[in-house]
Amino acid sequence: MIIQKFGGTSVGSAERIKAVANLIADDTRKIVVLSAVSGTTNQLVQINKALYKQDKVAVEGLLTSFESAYNQLIQDLFISEESRLKAKSHLSGHINHIRSFTLDMFTPFEERTVLAQGELLSSSLLQLHLSEKGVKSVLIPALDFMRIDQNNEPDEWYVKSNLNRLLDAQQETKLFVTQGYICRNHFGEVDNLKRGGSDYTASIIGAAIGASEVQIWTDIDGMHNNDPRIVEKTRPIDRLTFDEAAELAYFGAKILHPSSILPARKSNIPVILKNTMHPEKPGTVISNVSSGNFIKAVAAKDGITAIKIKSDRMFLAYGFFAKSV
Ligand code: ADP
Ligand code: ASP
Ligand code: MG
Repeated sequence: MIIQKFGGTSVGSAERIKAVANLIADDTRKIVVLSAVSGTTNQLVQINKALYKQDKVAVEGLLTSFESAYNQLIQDLFISEESRLKAKSHLSGHINHIRSFTLDMFTPFEERTVLAQGELLSSSLLQLHLSEKGVKSVLIPALDFMRIDQNNEPDEWYVKSNLNRLLDAQQETKLFVTQGYICRNHFGEVDNLKRGGSDYTASIIGAAIGASEVQIWTDIDGMHNNDPRIVEKTRPIDRLTFDEAAELAYFGAKILHPSSILPARKSNIPVILKNTMHPEKPGTVISNVSSGNFIKAVAAKDGITAIKIKSDRMFLAYGFFAKSV
């Protein structure tokens, strides 16, 4: 079984969602992990800010533009009026859910529930589109199996047992769809794996089911040797080891969530970075095979605080840090 994760830009328009549907509709048994439509999570963050201020006018304004953008997407994505009506009713369900929070006190619990609406929406739209195309798929809700523990680490045992139970109940099914990013915490509340967390979801799922491969489909042809947002003429890297990729991700290569390589590395599952716009390009293969001992890429990160500690009496001293914090 393989995992295919599609990021925000890969589902960023009706055309992109149609392309994803074509890419996933083959005979390989797989779990498709979806991000929210690009821009959606940022809009939800803005809505949350307005909700915290109890600024109902701002919330209404943001929800109106959110709804009209999705109505356009629905118009372009579906062929039949019946499918459009179904999609619109999903959309209003999500929007009314968010709207209902304007009446109550707004807390981090509601905030996380609002943030979850993006992935819930994109996955239901893809699934409706697949069913309109006559492609059979089963939605396995991430909130039914993805959980983090009290240290905010994936609850491996919980994820493994619940996910395998859901899959075992659908032996005949080839195509499963689920949401990236969202999960439950150890209180059972809706939570998330932090921004960009859908990559992490894909890797956690891959490890939980012993997948043969985790594919991360995005808007660029693999990990480049430098950050293409800053440096010109960067080029993709064919191969990276888990350690190299994890280090680049941790130190700012936005293409991967900082923790996303760890579960795959632990289970030795190759991670392939692919471009949704150019599926024919080889992308980057991340595995335990090294292509040699040379510098592969450079990454950069803003907002780092460096603390320099100097002490005259540190020579041969141990336990220094423990004493100073
Ligand atoms: P997705 O929405 O598919 O998760 P992201 O925006 O999170 O996509 O990640 C892809 C982006 O990461 C690329 O468009 C690129 O601008 C940025 N990026 C930063 N560093 C790198 C790098 N070293 N190689 C490739 N992409 C990088
Ligand atoms: N939608 C979430 C975000 O924008 C998660 C993801 O895209 O991976 O951060
Ligand atoms: Mg991302």
